Amino acid sequence: MISRAALLYLSQKTELKDFFSKLPGFDRVTHRFIAGENIDDAIETILELNHAGMTATFDHLGESTTSRAEAESDVREYLRVLGRIEDVGVNSNVSVKLTQLGLDIDEDYCLRNARRIVEAAKRHNNFVRIDMEDSSKTDATLRIFNRLYGEYGNVGIVLQAYLYRTEKDVDDALAMGARVRLCKGAYKEPEEVAFPQKSDVDANYVRLMKKLLKSGIYHGIATHDEKMIAATKEFAAVEGVPRDTFEFQMLYGVRRDLQLKLVRDGYRMRIYVPYGEYWYPYFMRRLAERPANVWFVLKNLFKG
Ligand SMILES: Cc1cc2nc3c(=O)[nH]c(=O)nc-3n(C[C@H](O)[C@H](O)[C@H](O)COP(=O)(O)OP(=O)(O)OC[C@H]3O[C@@H](n4cnc5c(N)ncnc54)[C@H](O)[C@@H]3O)c2cc1C
Repeated sequence: MISRAALLYLSQKTELKDFFSKLPGFDRVTHRFIAGENIDDAIETILELNHAGMTATFDHLGESTTSRAEAESDVREYLRVLGRIEDVGVNSNVSVKLTQLGLDIDEDYCLRNARRIVEAAKRHNNFVRIDMEDSSKTDATLRIFNRLYGEYGNVGIVLQAYLYRTEKDVDDALAMGARVRLCKGAYKEPEEVAFPQKSDVDANYVRLMKKLLKSGIYHGIATHDEKMIAATKEFAAVEGVPRDTFEFQMLYGVRRDLQLKLVRDGYRMRIYVPYGEYWYPYFMRRLAERPANVWFVLKNLFKG
């Protein structure tokens, strides 16, 4: 079976997108994880999620841009999304990746782009989550986040349990009063910066989850791992942390059964809803998280 490392390697080879797109049946496969190509597709998906008792976060797919025109077009897309959220009345915030807003071009330029989105979200009474990318971007991402949090407040950060540094980053975020989305981490990282063993990542995840839940700040516990979810539920019950003071978060199309069960049990659930044309790296990282998904892909391709 193809390995996680191989799939993560392929996720960086964006030139393969055209090859995969031409395979018959491939759009059926990508639709399992991606809401569609435009805002209307994402709105329709989010309305259904809201109807099922879940909130959402829009993710306009894109990352690692080296073009100012592309970065600015993404800013405009997010401004449109924030307007549509209010007009249609969907219950959703937005998630952005800073390399999509020009972090690889220039940090100040990216800050200005991100500020336009956070400022618009503030006007719309909404919230922006800054996704975390690979470890070469962590410091710059936190610098921009700290700045915008200080200026506007309606912005949260993502921290990854696989990095050794994250405990300190969690402490810093809590000292500021900021909202954190805790995830395990989706990129291929060297052992100099990240725990190579899954058991160590999981143990760190539980440790950090406890710190977050005890803080009294509203955080997102982002995982599909039943062990992490059970540990969170148990800790919240023992410590008397009410169910409406934190939320679970999952990706669109992943463990829909578990999403619905948590809602039925009275937990808050937010779904990360990606849409747009630039789906390739996102999609490949989802396959890497669970190489068995490759069978799902192959089965669908052979259905014709
Ligand atoms: C809302 C949300 C936002 C995220 N934002 C970021 C971010 O900003 N930066 C970042 O680096 N990472 C982000 N991630 C991804 C995260 O870091 C992990 O790579 C991903 O969630 C898989 O880890 P896990 O906690 O689900 O546990 P794992 O141990 O990877 O998986 C546990 C179980 O969950 C199920 N599962 C997990 N992934 C899949 C899948 N793709 N398809 C089917 N089943 C699956 C399987 O049953 C698996 O056995 C985000 C994840 C979520 C849910």
